[in-house]
Amino acid sequence: MRDWLSHRVAATPDAEALVLADSGESLTYADLDARAEELASRFAGLGIEPGDHLAVVLGNRAAYVALVHAAMRLGVRLVPCSDRLTAAELAPKLAAADATALVCGDDTEAVAVEAALGGGGREGGGDADSDPDDPAATGWRSVDGFEPARVDDRPADAAEVAASSDSPVPVVSLDDPADDRVVGVEAAPDGEVPEVRWGRGDTLVMLFTSGTTGSPKLVPLTVGNVLASATASAFRLGVLPEDRYLATLSLHHTGGIMPLYRATLYGTSVVLRESFDPGGAVDDIRRYDATGVSLVPTMLSRMLDARGTLPDSLRAVLLGGAPAPDALIERCRDYSIPVHPTWGMTEAASQIATARPREAFDRVGTVGRPLLWTDVSVRDEEGATLPAGETGELVVSGPSIAAGYYRDEAATDAALTDDGALRTGDGGYRDEDGYVYVLNRLDDRIISGGENVDPGEVAAALREHPEVDDVAVAGLPDEEWGERVAALVAAADNSELDAASVESFCRERLAGFKIPRTIAFADEIPRTVSGTVERPAVRDLLERAREGDDTATASVG
Ligand code: ATP
Ligand code: MG
Repeated sequence: MRDWLSHRVAATPDAEALVLADSGESLTYADLDARAEELASRFAGLGIEPGDHLAVVLGNRAAYVALVHAAMRLGVRLVPCSDRLTAAELAPKLAAADATALVCGDDTEAVAVEAALGGGGREGGGDADSDPDDPAATGWRSVDGFEPARVDDRPADAAEVAASSDSPVPVVSLDDPADDRVVGVEAAPDGEVPEVRWGRGDTLVMLFTSGTTGSPKLVPLTVGNVLASATASAFRLGVLPEDRYLATLSLHHTGGIMPLYRATLYGTSVVLRESFDPGGAVDDIRRYDATGVSLVPTMLSRMLDARGTLPDSLRAVLLGGAPAPDALIERCRDYSIPVHPTWGMTEAASQIATARPREAFDRVGTVGRPLLWTDVSVRDEEGATLPAGETGELVVSGPSIAAGYYRDEAATDAALTDDGALRTGDGGYRDEDGYVYVLNRLDDRIISGGENVDPGEVAAALREHPEVDDVAVAGLPDEEWGERVAALVAAADNSELDAASVESFCRERLAGFKIPRTIAFADEIPRTVSGTVERPAVRDLLERAREGDDTATASVG
């Protein structure tokens, strides 16, 4: 097949493709196609070729959407990276992805230059005695000499070569560059856009996981993975011609970029705003009659706090990324919000299971049944499949699941079962009717004095306290007990909650060994963009609280 925008514009050129919430401007598929074609031509003029790996560090904006399509048109693999990374964090990602060029904008140019061109001590890149005019040494010359390395030309162990080499990656800005080593697309010459055909097994996009459990892993998603995911999602949620999806998540994240591919396949529209704010997101839904949105639980709570409820144009609110507190689901029921609790992951090109509102209200805590074609089983530590009702590791397989991690055999081997399914690292179970329940991350489990403590259960108990806004529970190492339970609490505004009252609240609800021994307070629980708790930061706060700050600590052991 050709790039999906080409097929779409041939079918429905006049259908609305994109609404820019900041300006109110709206683009048809023909308009978006023209923008994508122009970008593709500029990138072709810069020497970008099929098979290249185009990394992107950019905030959400219209040009990013055009770029997603331009990359597919050029036969280029997109590698979206978070625009919140520092240069030191971005540089190893470019190497891990074998990036052949990096796209940035005004907002990200400084970070991009430092990460890709070896600024900050690696000025000019390459060895000190290399010829600065030799593109092989610097990776960079001028617009005319722009010669990104070709992935296909690289040796099989390119990841190691890239990681160990200092050779800079060319940087292209969608804006007017400030640094003269960066090329602005405006200044780039037009080039001939090649005829490209994609097959199902070709890698379309490579996404980094959120890095909740360690350093982010790079997931290559094929055309087939994304098609299967988009199709199965449509079978679960339905598609209407007037659908308009409010894009609120960052485009470097599965939950952010997949809706763009989906809308193009479906011929529906996306409403895009450059940055998220809770009240503004609700107002956008109302102003543009949005019918769908994906949110992580903290975003939804903040939107409801800001505006009370959500407009009734919505027909599907996908809620995922982290466990949804029961109280939030109840609130959705009370306000007739069409909430669809969803369990997904990068490796599955987004959704694995999605519950319809009625299912979510009737079966507290479920994320629904798996999407069509996706199999979910529950396995014990030896890999044996467990019956309904028993808790173990959730294991998934199906056409939307990535075959492994990009050039990371160790991580791939660790993640795949003998029969080739993916171990999700999530603990949970299925009920007699096949509904999936996600309880916790397996390596989150706390073992205190030989007793297993599920941090999710402790967190759920704490959330029942009316003055607790948010909470994170972790185990801190302890000489006597192995680990002891600790809780970081974000209290509601104006609350005078203290550690002693939190502790006595827990005592009424939890067995002794589950009661947090360290209770600390924070204005906000540190969370990743996908809504999961940033565990290292939480541990750090808890450790510091335990180690002395009396005002933040209650020792009840
Ligand atoms: P890493 O894999 O690098 O540790 P990550 O797993 O957080 O990071 P993502 O792929 O963005 O990266 O997130 C997927 C994970 O998010 C799931 O494996 C699961 O732990 C969590 N998650 C997603 N949806 C839900 C949900 N509805 N309930 C509970 N957890 C969820
Ligand atoms: Mg993960």
